[in-house]
Amino acid sequence: MKMQNQRLFLSPPHMSGREQSYIADVFESNYIAPLGPMVDRFEHSIRDLTRVPYALALSSATAALHLALRVLGIGAGDIVLTSSFTFIGGVAPILYQNATPVFIDSDSGSWNLDPLLLEEAIERSPKKPKALILAHLYGQCADLEKIIALCNLHGIALIEDAAESLGTTYNGQQTGTFGTFGVYSFNGNKILTTSGGGMLISSNKELIEKARFYSTQARDDAPHYEHTDYGYNYRMSNILAAIGVAQMEVLQERIATRRQIFEWYTQALGDIGEITFMPELPHTKGNRWLTALTFEHSNPNRIRLALEDKNIESRPLWKPMHLQPLFKDAMCCENGTSQRLFEKGLCLPSGTQMNRDDVERVCTLLKKALQ
Ligand SMILES: *Cc1c(COP(=O)(O)O)cnc(C)c1O
Repeated sequence: MKMQNQRLFLSPPHMSGREQSYIADVFESNYIAPLGPMVDRFEHSIRDLTRVPYALALSSATAALHLALRVLGIGAGDIVLTSSFTFIGGVAPILYQNATPVFIDSDSGSWNLDPLLLEEAIERSPKKPKALILAHLYGQCADLEKIIALCNLHGIALIEDAAESLGTTYNGQQTGTFGTFGVYSFNGNKILTTSGGGMLISSNKELIEKARFYSTQARDDAPHYEHTDYGYNYRMSNILAAIGVAQMEVLQERIATRRQIFEWYTQALGDIGEITFMPELPHTKGNRWLTALTFEHSNPNRIRLALEDKNIESRPLWKPMHLQPLFKDAMCCENGTSQRLFEKGLCLPSGTQMNRDDVERVCTLLKKALQ
């Protein structure tokens, strides 16, 4: 029995039940290290899902994005285009490389990067951009076809930040597999979690081998520790990979549940005129990591506090990067969409242990708060 006053979190971890047995295997083997058979198995499960030949398990998606930029040779003064409507972990690696971010606003059809503004950003950029970091927010796919075409036309390396969109597809193909690199996150609140972790994938063997080299302190091939370059300590623990292996076994179930939760929300709230749910583009199938919506008139913060009062966690949508004090001097091609989403939007609890009654309870309180 669930207690009525038990806190309803936004997106808590949901174990499959097999994690501890896989962790026990790790202890048995004594591979208590950032390498080992579970790391190999975890990478294998991602290769199976994505049909991309190379995968590298890392300490976080932020680390994965950093390595992607590093091996692409992006450095001081280089321009990296990126979604403005995103989480800081998708953008901070540009600063790690002393490169310059140019932000691109969202379109209202996808809430993700606007291809028209991408074209404008490429034209207005003070020099040729080297890469684009493209986020698929809340598990919903960006307008990939136009974005890919523009990247190809202008020779811009596409890095998909699929941190929130594991299992999301475009024409049946997994997000994260369309660019030079794709990145997934296994942080505590993502659709699958290893408590913390990330994955870098690519079809380019040489680039992944380079990333592997930099992820383990850039050690040259010698019996002693020889270094002609510097790297990072970014690899994933074999213990955490054991959690990842068990989590990957239930990915499709988790996606089905998140989509079901979204359906329940739309059934209960869909006829409220001022509510708009995050859209799903044609030919795409999102994992609906978080149910996200906007209110035309009501103040989302008031709704959030009303839910909080009943011990229910909800969260504002991401504050766009071009509105962050950190990036007050950065260039942005904007149309006001992400700012409006931030000001009007809310993410509702979407954890896969929720049942229909939980969703109904949130909706009843939300409707009451709207009156
Ligand atoms: C969570 C997240 C990241 C960072 O992932 P970590 O594994 O926590 O480093 C990057 N980008 C987006 C869009 C995210 O949601």
